[in-house]
Amino acid sequence: MSASILAGNKIAAEIRAEAAAEVRALAAAGTRPGLAVVLVGNNPASEVYVRGKVKACEETGIFSEKHTPSANASTEELLELVADLNRRDEIDGILVQLPLPLQVDSKKVLLAVDPAKDVDGFHPTNVGFLSTQRPGLVPCTPAGIMEMLERSKIKIAAAEAVVVGRSDIVGKPMAMLLLNGNATVTVCHSKTHDLPSVCRRADILIAAIGRAGMITNDFVRPGATVIDVGMNRVTDHAEVSRLFAGNAKREETFRSKGSVLVGDVHPEVAEVAGAITPVPGGVGPLTIAMLMSNTVKAAKMRRGRRGSERAGA
Ligand code: NAP
Repeated sequence: MSASILAGNKIAAEIRAEAAAEVRALAAAGTRPGLAVVLVGNNPASEVYVRGKVKACEETGIFSEKHTPSANASTEELLELVADLNRRDEIDGILVQLPLPLQVDSKKVLLAVDPAKDVDGFHPTNVGFLSTQRPGLVPCTPAGIMEMLERSKIKIAAAEAVVVGRSDIVGKPMAMLLLNGNATVTVCHSKTHDLPSVCRRADILIAAIGRAGMITNDFVRPGATVIDVGMNRVTDHAEVSRLFAGNAKREETFRSKGSVLVGDVHPEVAEVAGAITPVPGGVGPLTIAMLMSNTVKAAKMRRGRRGSERAGA
């Protein structure tokens, strides 16, 4: 048996096209959604992510601006910047690219973002909204995975879902979204006893661990849907050969780039799973698509509400 491939690129393109149509409608009514991205210092990976986010805004028609405080920026300087962005009406979304430099109190900065502009969905107010099933802004990666499952017609209600990873960014909100979707959810982590047997319960298995190829065949019930969130850059050739023995394309990527992007799921799982996301081209593109979608949602929730209040609704 060979798994069907869940094409994140295609679903992400659909979500981005829908967001672009909403942006056009909002702009025609005088409200062009705006996103401010804060990139502190010169972390090369963060620079790549931010470039991708700004480009996506351009393609979607969302106004965007980039703020680049130096690597020495203090917590107070960033709090001032966030306060200024909170005040500006034309800014609907504020994204503080993580990680922040060590001298900065990241939690304090994220807490300062107006929850109505928190397009990453990390603010405790939005976390609370999600867990109590109130409308709010939901973290982009797990929200994108839900879109992928729903649009691929994978049944969530009554399914056994196992989430490996309990981070605030992926694992916990993922578990909450699946629970809200009426799945029976188990959350695993580094202290989970006999992880393979817990994972084998899953109709839907989500791997958000950060360990290249850790989920092998013996973690997967035949026919299960496997969502691979992991993005691990492997630079050791022996590791690449272990994971992709005989895969000429991956060998070529390694030769030309010196590294290969690998998920948390071993490639052999494609032989037993019913459906699986590739890496790259699976969950990754959905994350940026949902950032666009969240920015539109934030504009509608904040400025739309005010518009209807003005109209006496
Ligand atoms: P994280 O904060 O490091 O969390 C990793 C989680 O995995 C933790 O809960 C940890 O357990 C658990 N874990 C680690 N080793 C384990 C093991 N041997 N057995 C069972 N559980 C284990 O990572 P994250 O931010 O959630 O990201 C996870 C992965 O997704 C990374 O590869 C990241 O790059 C990727 N990612 C991708 C996207 C995307 O757009 N595609 C977005 C975000 C993240 P403990 O809590 O017990 O330590």
